[in-house]
Amino acid sequence: MFPEDHFLYKKMKTRITDKKLKRFYRLLSVQMIDFDCGKLCAPKNGGMPYCCENESVVPILFYEEYKWHQGNGKFWKKMPPKTKEIRKFIEESEPYYVFSKCPGPEGCIRSKRSLNCMTFPFEPHLSKDGDILGLAYTNTHKAECPLIGKPEKTYDPLYISNVIKFWQEIFELYPEEEEMYFDESRKRERRLKRQGKRLRVFGP
Ligand code: SF4
Ligand code: SF4
Repeated sequence: MFPEDHFLYKKMKTRITDKKLKRFYRLLSVQMIDFDCGKLCAPKNGGMPYCCENESVVPILFYEEYKWHQGNGKFWKKMPPKTKEIRKFIEESEPYYVFSKCPGPEGCIRSKRSLNCMTFPFEPHLSKDGDILGLAYTNTHKAECPLIGKPEKTYDPLYISNVIKFWQEIFELYPEEEEMYFDESRKRERRLKRQGKRLRVFGP
C-alpha cells in the first residue's frame, strides 16, 4: 500500500489511542545521551545528521501517530516513493506504516519527532521465547551512525528502560511488530555468530 491510500488508513482500527500516544511520548522524551550526537555524523554528511536525512532513512510513522500529527500542525507529510527501492520497501512493509517527511533539522520540533526518531538507533532484541532481553543496535545503518557500537554507559539508563517499556506496550497493540523484531533478533544473532562477535543488549 502507498501513503496516498487514504481510504485504507480510514478503515483501519485505532490501536494506539491518543492517551497511549501521549504516554509513549512521555516515556521517550527522556534524553538518550547528554550531548548532541548529530554533531558526530552531520559533518561527514554535508551538515545533515544521518538519521534525519529523509531520503536515506525512510521515516515511518504508525498510522495513529500520523493521524495525530495531522490534527496538530501537519509537521509530518506523506512521502511519495521517489525511487524504485523506496517503492519496493513501502510495498513490502506493514500496511499501518505511513512513510512521511519532516521539515528537517532546521525546522525540527523536539516534541513532534516520531516514535521512530526517538528510538533510533536501537531495536528491541527478543529471546527465542519471545521476551524482550533489552535493546540492541539496529541491524542496518552501522556505517553511518557513529553511536552504533558505543558502550551502554553512553546512554541514560532511564532512557533505555523507558524504550523497553515502550516496546513491551507496542507489542501488546501490534503483535506484528513483535514478530518482525523476533525475526530481526534471529538475524542479528546469526550475523554476530558469523562475525565471531558477541551479542550486546542494553537493559535493566
Ligand atoms: S542517532 Fe546516529 S545518525 Fe542520528 S544524529 Fe545521532 S549519531 Fe547521527
Ligand atoms: S523529526 Fe527531527 S529528529 Fe526526526 S528526522 Fe526530522 S529532523 Fe530528524
